[in-house]
Amino acid sequence: MTSGNGDRADGAGAERIPRNFITDIIDADLKEGREDHVATRFPPEPNGYLHIGHAKSICLNFGLARDYQGTCNLRFDDTNPVKEDAEYVNSIMADVRWLGFEWQGLKHTSDYFDQLCSYAVELIEQGLAYVDSLSPDEIRDYRGTLTEPGRESPYRNRSVAENLKLFTDMKEGRIKEGEACLRARIDMASPFMCMRDPVIYRVRFATHEQTGDKWCIYPMYDFAHCISDAIEGITHSICTLEFQDNRRLYDWVLDHISIKSRPHQYEMSRLNLAYSITSKRKLNELVERKLVDGWDDPRLTTISGLRRRGYTPASIREFCRRIGVTKQDNVVEMSALEACIREDLNQNAPRAMAVLHPVKLVIDNYSAALAGVGPLEVPNHPDRPELGSRRLDLGPELYIDAADFREEADKHYKRLVTGGEVRLRYGCIIKAVSCHKDESGTVTEIHAEAVPDSIGQTPEGHKARGVIHWVNAQSCLRGTVKLYRNLFTVPNPGAAEDFLSTVDTLSLETLDNAALEQSLSQAVSGQSFQFEREGYFCVDSKYSKVGAPVFNLTVALRETRKGNA
Ligand code: ATP
Ligand code: MG
Repeated sequence: MTSGNGDRADGAGAERIPRNFITDIIDADLKEGREDHVATRFPPEPNGYLHIGHAKSICLNFGLARDYQGTCNLRFDDTNPVKEDAEYVNSIMADVRWLGFEWQGLKHTSDYFDQLCSYAVELIEQGLAYVDSLSPDEIRDYRGTLTEPGRESPYRNRSVAENLKLFTDMKEGRIKEGEACLRARIDMASPFMCMRDPVIYRVRFATHEQTGDKWCIYPMYDFAHCISDAIEGITHSICTLEFQDNRRLYDWVLDHISIKSRPHQYEMSRLNLAYSITSKRKLNELVERKLVDGWDDPRLTTISGLRRRGYTPASIREFCRRIGVTKQDNVVEMSALEACIREDLNQNAPRAMAVLHPVKLVIDNYSAALAGVGPLEVPNHPDRPELGSRRLDLGPELYIDAADFREEADKHYKRLVTGGEVRLRYGCIIKAVSCHKDESGTVTEIHAEAVPDSIGQTPEGHKARGVIHWVNAQSCLRGTVKLYRNLFTVPNPGAAEDFLSTVDTLSLETLDNAALEQSLSQAVSGQSFQFEREGYFCVDSKYSKVGAPVFNLTVALRETRKGNA
């Protein structure tokens, strides 16, 4: 039985990645003897929390290692000391494990700083790298444009000896930030901008999470990534399509250094999810400006936000399986993600009753009509008896939802109407007799009569228009329920000029006065339920307390709306 989505990894052992262009490449490599094993890596930069886009990469990289009995490393791509933080490192490890995966090696690009530095020296010695003394602005200016070739730096033809000396000066702190950098000497007229003498090392006087103050030069991604892959013996290095051109540089570096192992880079499309942001930089902005309740705000499609929202690891893996792995950029609808958790919870979540907008209903003839009736024994799941049962108490005073009563209504309204009959879920049929209202006309109390002998049967002459849920007003638990809708008002907030202005300020609705059936007092952090007729909800891991529960809406019972309408 699902006991919530807590911190438990539920394992991804039984699954298999559906065939895709990358498994085709691997199959061919193994069959034709280019490789005899599969080694992948997941290489996040520890500058934020992981999001649903990373889940796609995690499921693929760790999934390939699982399916081909290979290995997958978790590698922190920590070449930029200024933006990185231990909080991010810890959250990334927790999220990967929560998704059900375990790495073979835990690596840091910074583990290879010594080796990276000596490979840079190898390039210098071959006349394939030089120390440039142009300023960063000048370098940009000299680089040219897509239609215009770049110009060579006046420092491009320094001698090997001079370059070695200057690189040592950089490394030993004798050169200030921005006064020099190391560039690969490739081709300033290349149609690929990344090949126009890319910067491969720069000076940064910053303390590094792992290496402290040992270094004041740091390698650039394009130089460090391919070499780190080679050092780890990665066979298939998977990244996203925007690195397609950079593959030329990836191969160029490995072609010109003495390392033996030869990884290959393959690019797949990024996951873009409608009404969501998958950029750590933008997510960070939402967090910093307190537009959301931290990185784990349930409206965010970060892994920690989805977990707090009530998503299970299996539902996220299933989503990644369904979207597949291709080279076509597209946008996936939020409903595709929601369908995965809805199917999971429909199968696994116990049922409960919760009245979100309670109004009191008094059964005037309770003792006469229901005198001998004991507690109702009701199943926790309609199709899974193994999930057990629980007791519900009918009583003279109940709460029902304000939306389930009208003084008058036509026959299309299948709920309670004055003079009409409905069935209380699992209980008897009641007939509404009258109601009280306050000055504004809001119904404050409904009076009803129970139909004798109507539990589990319908006596002659009676007909319930529908079934409504309820809780016992005396024994129920009071709590908070948070309803969510999309955080953004537009489908592609990432493309908006000012994405912060697309945040929907009404995307969180807090109901402080929900009435919950008594058994929910046993619910534990992260545990999920179907609140009958309302949706799937889970116990909020951040704010819920014993005696003062807080539930988050995970997803509605059915796909109800397009976008944010
Ligand atoms: P961000 O903009 O969020 O920082 P990133 O690509 O810079 O994204 P990294 O931490 O460098 O983030 O990414 C780690 C791995 O996850 C990389 O291999 C990257 O290609 C992959 N990845 C990141 N975002 C997505 C996405 N939306 N879809 C698929 N893979 C992704
Ligand atoms: Mg990045």
